[in-house]
Amino acid sequence: MNVLIVYAHPEPTSLNGALKDFSVKRLEDAGHTVRVSDLYAMKWKAPVDASDNTDHQPETAFHASLDSKHAYANGTQSDDIAAEQEKLKWADAVILQFPLWWFSMPAILKGWVDRVYAYGFAYGVGEHSDERWGDRYGEGSMAGKRAMLVVTTGGWDTHYGPRGINGPIDDILFPINHGVLFYPGFDVLPPFVVHRTSKMDEARFAQTSDALGRRLDELWSTRPIPYRRQNAGDYVIPEGTLREDILPGRTGTAVHAVM
Ligand code: FAD
Repeated sequence: MNVLIVYAHPEPTSLNGALKDFSVKRLEDAGHTVRVSDLYAMKWKAPVDASDNTDHQPETAFHASLDSKHAYANGTQSDDIAAEQEKLKWADAVILQFPLWWFSMPAILKGWVDRVYAYGFAYGVGEHSDERWGDRYGEGSMAGKRAMLVVTTGGWDTHYGPRGINGPIDDILFPINHGVLFYPGFDVLPPFVVHRTSKMDEARFAQTSDALGRRLDELWSTRPIPYRRQNAGDYVIPEGTLREDILPGRTGTAVHAVM
C-alpha cells in the first residue's frame, strides 16, 4: 500500500521528528511504500494568494475559490500544489502528523490544506442541487482512502477528557477529522494522540512508539470513526441538518457519528 505522511514540525530532532522516522521505518518494514511531505523542510508556502493560479490576470480581483477552480480545471495551478495533489491521488492512506498548537494544527499545515484542497478537487465536487449537496462527507475525491491523525499535546490526557478544561480531544480534532478528512471522502481512523509530552523519556518513548506501531500495523483493519454520510439518508438536504427523528434533542459534534 502507498502511505503519505504530511508532517509539520520545524525540528528534525523533536519528538514529532522521532515519531515520524519511526512510522516511516515501521511502514516500510511492513512492505508499504511511504512518501513524506515534510512541510518545514520543503519550505511550504502557507498563504493562499494569486500566485497559486499561474493564469491569474493581474487586472482582475483575486478570488480564492474561483481562482482555485479555474487553476485546477485548466492545469494552471502552481507546481507545488499540483505535486501534493498527485501524492494524495497516489496514496491509499494519509497520515497528518503535527504538534497541537493553539488547539489546532500548525499554520504551515493549515496552509497545505488551504492550498492543496482545490475547488473541484476536494470541494465543489459532484452534483449540487436541492436533492444532492455535492459529493462530500463520506463521498468525494478521497473516497476509498484512509486517513489518520498523529498528534502530540503538551496538556495531560485528563485536560482533554470528557470534563477536561481544554475540552474533549474528539471535539478539538472534529474540525480536522470531520471537516478536513471526512469532507473530501476519507475513511477517518481514530487519532493517535500523545499527551503530556514534557514527561517523555526513553521508557515512555518505547511504549509510545510500540503503541503507534500497532496502530500502523492495523491501518488497513481499524474500524473508521462511524461518521454519518451526507447522502445516505440521515440528513435533510439542502438544509444539511440531521433528521429530527435521529437522536432527538441531541446536539453537538458527537451526533454526526453513529453512536
Ligand atoms: P519536543 O519538545 O521535541 O519533545 C518533548 C519531550 O520529548 C522532550 O522532553 C524531549 O526530550 C522528549 N523526546 C523527544 N524525542 C525523544 C525521543 N526520541 N526519545 C525520548 N524522548 C524524546 N499544547 C496543548 O496541549 N495545547 C495547545 O493548544 C498547545 N499549543 C501550543 C502552541 C505553541 C505555539 C507551542 C509551541 C506549543 C503548544 N502546545 C500546546 C504544546 C505542544 O503541543 C507540545 O510542545 C508538542 O506537542 C511537543 O511535541 P514536540 O515534537 O515539539 O516535542
